[in-house]
Amino acid sequence: MKMVFATGNSGKLREASEILGKGFELVTPAQMGIDEDIPETGTTLKANSQQKADFIWQNCRTDCFADDTGLEVDALGGAPGVHTARYAGDDRDFNKNMDKLLYELERKEMEASLMASAGIAPKKSLRSARFKSVVTLILDGQHYFFQGVLEGRIARRKAGKGGFGYDPVFIADDYPGVTLAEITEEQKNSVSHRGKALRAMAEFLSGTVNPR
Ligand code: IMP
Repeated sequence: MKMVFATGNSGKLREASEILGKGFELVTPAQMGIDEDIPETGTTLKANSQQKADFIWQNCRTDCFADDTGLEVDALGGAPGVHTARYAGDDRDFNKNMDKLLYELERKEMEASLMASAGIAPKKSLRSARFKSVVTLILDGQHYFFQGVLEGRIARRKAGKGGFGYDPVFIADDYPGVTLAEITEEQKNSVSHRGKALRAMAEFLSGTVNPR
């Protein structure tokens, strides 16, 4: 099945091709002659995901899908969330994004440890987090949505060379002790937010389940 995947992110494209397998031929916006950045101005993952898919549909009138992913860190009140890509600035530099995240969490931990030693609050782990992906599929002009979540925690420092984005600082509950950048792509895809959402889409397309 031929579909446009509304992304310019080579890491996402590689993962999606692997997850969806041989039955899918993924085409990029650039291959459809779209060279500009696809707008992402929504305030939720779902809105951004739909906005990206709508952009492809409006310009190409072809079946397509988009994903929008956010990292939610509990101790930061769910941040960076919908601002994950631009957490440290508009240049979307993932090293700066990770450095800011590690810094903000260390600050929270210092505050918490002062409160704990003053007896104001109990000591607790502040590193729980999750990746959430929302996939929008446009098929014959109709919208369908799929979600995937990966629970885990934020590491104390970056580790590993694999994956992309925040992978060097995210430790999945399914693979404790190593970051997503230290496991194989196959292992990441088998448990990841994007893996779950895209497999749900593939199952829907094969006609076995209903969309959410
Ligand atoms: P978007 O979905 O392209 O808007 O991505 C939001 C941000 O999350 C970007 O900074 C991505 O690099 C990051 N991101 C998306 N998916 C993953 C992932 O699977 N691992 C690590 N970072 C990711």
